[in-house]
Formats: sequence, structure tokens, C-alpha cells
Amino acid sequence: MRLVLLGPPGAGKGTQARMLAERFGATHVASGDLLRTAVKQKTPLGLEARGYMDRGALVPDELVLKLVQEHLDKSDGDKGFILDGFPRSVSQAEALGRMLKSRGVSLDRVVAIIVPDDEIVKRISGRRTCKNCGAMYHIIYDPPRNAGICNSCNGELYQREDDAEDTVRMRLEVYNAETKPLLEYYGRASLLAKVNGVGRPEEIQAQILAAIGSTKVQDARNG
Ligand code: AMP
Repeated sequence: MRLVLLGPPGAGKGTQARMLAERFGATHVASGDLLRTAVKQKTPLGLEARGYMDRGALVPDELVLKLVQEHLDKSDGDKGFILDGFPRSVSQAEALGRMLKSRGVSLDRVVAIIVPDDEIVKRISGRRTCKNCGAMYHIIYDPPRNAGICNSCNGELYQREDDAEDTVRMRLEVYNAETKPLLEYYGRASLLAKVNGVGRPEEIQAQILAAIGSTKVQDARNG
């Protein structure tokens, strides 16, 4: 299973990628999480990436590629990987193509999760994350039992700097300018499937599984 999940910030890529990784035993590679860990640990890479992330801009390719490459190395083997948040531009997709080629493998499918911009802003600006365990909540759709406190570990909930409304709008602009062209890029390579990202996580997962399964049916039909 070698899969890329595409979609705007807040489309639910992380949730879906975690569910898929568990189902297939694949490695979940989330570029945003890798970068946030580097920032938290104050590594040189993290210190360099931080400013870009806080204002919702893309972190330069060479930094992201380094992190992703390290994690792809860990995922070598039959079980594969689910890429979440990477690639985010045509140049990153080209770099990914080169990385996979050098490993003698290729992508099975690219799934784009489609969610309207207004819905994204509503979802992300209400999002709260646990400082301790990373669990996510939404102040309206999925509030914690006690305001500001994580249900699982009693950690303090906070709003990610880049989840504030203005930064979310900036991230959407970046998505539309830099990442959306990947739909055409992977469409041309006949790898793309689109799913509707508005609904319950289980419903969206079912659509993704159908999209992955339908490739096999199509492949079989194509002989
Ligand atoms: P995410 O958690 O995927 O929404 O990513 C949070 C932030 O990390 C983004 O707004 C970017 O600043 C940075 N980031 C994550 N993935 C990438 C990537 N593939 N290329 C460049 N920047 C990225």
C-alpha cells in the first residue's frame, strides 16, 4: 500500500491516514507532524522551519524532503506508507517520484479529499490540540468533557498558532496555488481518485477504501 492523501488543511487527512495505516499496517508519514516535532525539539531544521509554519507558508523543499526521506527509509518493506501533507507542490511530487524510483517502487493511488473552503475555516479555527498527547478536539463539533482539558490525559488544550482564522485563510491560499495543481498532475498519471470529505470519518474512510479497491478492479479489467 503506497498511498498519497491530498486535500486542504483540515480536510481530515490525518484522521483518514491514521485509520488506513492501522488497517494496512502501513507507516503514516505526516510531514506537518514531523515538522512540529522538529520545532518542539528545537533542532536546527525545526528552528528554520518555524517561521514559515507560523505564518502558514510552505517550508522550503530541502528541509521537508530531508524529513520525509528519513521516514520513508523506516517504511521500506511490503506494508508501504500513507503520505499525509506531502507532496504539497509539483516540485515535491517530482522529488517524491525520484525518491520512489531510486527504491524501485511506485505509488498505488493518490486520493484527494474534497472540502469547501468555508467548511475548512469553520473546522480549523475551532480546532484545539492537547499539548501533552496531541489528541484533537473541536470547540463545537467535538468538545472535550471539561473545557480546555484533554479527555484522555488531562493535558492542556491549545490552539495551534497556524490554526488562527487569518493563518487558515493564508494556508488555503497556499493550498489553492501550490497543492491543487497536483490534482491535475496525478490525474494525468491516472493515479487520482476524489472523495467527498464532508461527512463522518467512517463514511469518508469507506469512500477511500472503495477508491483503492476500484483500482484493483480497473487494473484487472485492463488486463
Ligand atoms: P499540516 O499539519 O500538514 O497542516 O502542516 C502544517 C504546516 O507545516 C504547513 O502550513 C506548512 O508550513 C508546513 N508543512 C507541512 N507539510 C509541508 C510540505 N510538504 N511542504 C512544505 N511545508 C509543509
